[in-house]
Amino acid sequence: MPSGSEFIRDIKSQVREIDPAEVSELAHEGVAIVDVRETEETTTGMLPGAKHVPRGYLESRIEGVVPERSTPVVIYCASGTRSALAAHTLQQLGYDDVRSMTGGITLWKDRGYKVDVPRTYTPEQRERYSRHFLLPEIGVEGQQKLLDAKVLLLGAGGLGSPTALYLAAAGVGMIGIVDDDDVDLSNLQRQVIHTTDRIGTPKVDSAEISMKAINPDVEVVKYQTRLDASNVLEIIEGYDVIVDGVDNFPTRYLLNDATVRLQIPVVSASILGFDGQLSVFKPYDGPCYRCLYPVPPPAELAPSCGANGVLGVLPGTMGLLQATEVVKLVVGTGEPLVGRLLLYEALGATFTELKVRRDPDCPVCSRAPEEISDEEMGVFPDYEAFCAAAG
Ligand SMILES: [Zn+2]
Repeated sequence: MPSGSEFIRDIKSQVREIDPAEVSELAHEGVAIVDVRETEETTTGMLPGAKHVPRGYLESRIEGVVPERSTPVVIYCASGTRSALAAHTLQQLGYDDVRSMTGGITLWKDRGYKVDVPRTYTPEQRERYSRHFLLPEIGVEGQQKLLDAKVLLLGAGGLGSPTALYLAAAGVGMIGIVDDDDVDLSNLQRQVIHTTDRIGTPKVDSAEISMKAINPDVEVVKYQTRLDASNVLEIIEGYDVIVDGVDNFPTRYLLNDATVRLQIPVVSASILGFDGQLSVFKPYDGPCYRCLYPVPPPAELAPSCGANGVLGVLPGTMGLLQATEVVKLVVGTGEPLVGRLLLYEALGATFTELKVRRDPDCPVCSRAPEEISDEEMGVFPDYEAFCAAAG
């Protein structure tokens, strides 16, 4: 029977080791750097860009963090022993280019290389976000991105209600809400962020109460106003993602033009009756709203021109699909719905996906952002006249 130290020596002889100096040069070249220390040990700093997979969870979580076995992997721990054992395990799992960093993060720091100090979580936050930490695709790093994210919701109505609640629950650090309405009794059939005792209160205030109640970590920024050409750029600038739940075409076009100019992705959904649709407009990466709808649909189909019926649970379904896309964009995981239009038909319980391409002649996104002028923002026919034509 070998002693513990003999066993470790034997393993070390079977794995390739790498010096911190070489790691610092490799760091930008598509190499996955994996920290296998315990969670408590990472609070004093990690290698920049490193992913955290505690050694005890290595076998069960590594595929979520490094899906391709051909990806070069550098593993480190505190001093270089646990990382050698972990590297050996990865070799057995079929990873063919695995190296263990000698001297661990201790030597890395001694040599004066930079570390990133991750956000420290309070015990309460560890508990609150524990189910995210367990997902390799999100984990501690993904949660940090969520807590650092700034997401703007247009509308605290049917779509905005579930989106706001779930994004707050997920720990999105800053959530802005634009809405100039008050809570009305007829809203409550679907706008679940509001309550009967808050009828008559501004929707932004009512939404803030519910979001703060579910997660005090969230900072809520309220804009009790209507988005128009005079304020759009000022309001949306600085947000990472915008969630479009507005119910009228002029605002959609205005928002599109402004977000293409500022290059902010928009998660857009709309609902009517029993049908919903959803897409992600990521400027210059996929089509924009004008590529999809170069001209507004006929006025009689414009939901904002009058009161239309809508199945109460439908905005819940569509709003949560929007919230899901926001989390994916923020964390940088999965395949966002860019260049794809998802149609949901509630009565038939069917989802259909359509490909949407960028229009090379699009009046907005075919040009460079700086060429889109203030005067062109949201150019749209007179809306009163547009609705009047609908009869
Ligand atoms: Zn376009």
